[in-house]
Amino acid sequence: MSKPPVTDPRRRIPRTDTLLALPAVSDARVRLGDNAIRDIIRRTQDSARRGDTPPEDVERIIVESVSGSYASSSRAVLNATGVVVHTNLGRAPLSPAALDAVVAASGYVDVELDLETGARSKRGATTRAALLRACPAAGDALMVNNGAAALVLATTALAAGRAVVISRGEMIEIGAGFRLTELIASTGARLYEVGTTNRTHAHDYADALTSDDVGAILKVHPSNFRVEGFTSETSLAELRTLGRAYGVPVVADIGSGLLQPDPLLPDEPDATTTLDSGADLVIASGDKLLGGPQAGLLFGDAALVQRLAKHPLARAVRADKLALAAMEATVGGPRPPVWNHLHADPGALRVRAESLGAAVGFPVVAHDGRVGGGGAPGVPLPGWAIRLPVATAARLRLGEPAVLPRVHDDACLVDLRCVPEADDPRVLAAIRRALDEP
Ligand SMILES: *Cc1c(COP(=O)(O)O)cnc(C)c1O
Repeated sequence: MSKPPVTDPRRRIPRTDTLLALPAVSDARVRLGDNAIRDIIRRTQDSARRGDTPPEDVERIIVESVSGSYASSSRAVLNATGVVVHTNLGRAPLSPAALDAVVAASGYVDVELDLETGARSKRGATTRAALLRACPAAGDALMVNNGAAALVLATTALAAGRAVVISRGEMIEIGAGFRLTELIASTGARLYEVGTTNRTHAHDYADALTSDDVGAILKVHPSNFRVEGFTSETSLAELRTLGRAYGVPVVADIGSGLLQPDPLLPDEPDATTTLDSGADLVIASGDKLLGGPQAGLLFGDAALVQRLAKHPLARAVRADKLALAAMEATVGGPRPPVWNHLHADPGALRVRAESLGAAVGFPVVAHDGRVGGGGAPGVPLPGWAIRLPVATAARLRLGEPAVLPRVHDDACLVDLRCVPEADDPRVLAAIRRALDEP
């Protein structure tokens, strides 16, 4: 590149070492790392060289960009949709107690060490104990990476090269094209489909058990849809009787992860009731209704859980130390945000919504929240929303803080169910900014 002439404005672009020495930039190095800082500097200098940015603005732009930047580009979002377990927003928000646990576990931590003896200990033993306290019906518990991993581990360990019996009424797709049946088939287990979409009887299972080498009977909670009308399914008690007769374990994938029944969601299965009803092994997700970190939980017969824990695949799906810590704090600590949002008092939600609505001069309308994450389909969670012009939605999403409203009925609906009350002033400020913009 030939040197620009003295009169060329490009000569006024600050040099890299000058920019690196700016106090705001050298402070940001700790947060962002050298490469990210140099990238920002290079991009701004390039823009000035092209004539897109005046050279005198380079320093200010760089200081501004490094001040608003973090090493991770994940952005916190205020969930104003009324959907409690919002998959696109990372499902369950962690409780402050779980967050503290994650921070404590982020450095060197005794995840596999007994500090008393100095000897190696079982990984995640305290999390296992907390899970068993929360679900005493289980003989043992194991936590893995997620629900799908728990299902892969169970079908591989129990039924690779053999058959998994499943009702045609429970062959579900969950979201983003994730089909349980394809996942099971990928483990090398054969799917043995029985019954029909609406009705499956005990004799259908019995036929399978007499005619094939069955490794497991799988019962799946059809999380995100309901079959109504002329329907019939085989109870866990019947399946247990059959399973015992043929020496085949009954595995129940309950999906969402309540450990105890929740009166608010009478049709949502929970681990305790499912075990008491006859399942030998229960599979659940950690970040749906349980309100914890992403995890797959396996509860049940101690010998079965141990068989899974000792399978070589268990190492490939093991939970990381951060998730183990967050799970222990979720099941043993204070109620997580998911529980609070689910059980939010509609009257209190109305007062909050009306206060914000009045402040910006827009009406408050009745609005049903949802459980989300495939849980309790069709169950409304009565609440309220501030009804704004539909064009406000994009501005709210792109604002600071980012707010995700629900777009419905040609309106932008702001439901405060899943917004911590302490954040109401931030939502109000965000709405004001979104409405003010031309
Ligand atoms: C959500 C769900 C899964 C998958 O769990 P992840 O934790 O998302 O992997 C499996 N089975 C059922 C019935 C579910 O609802």
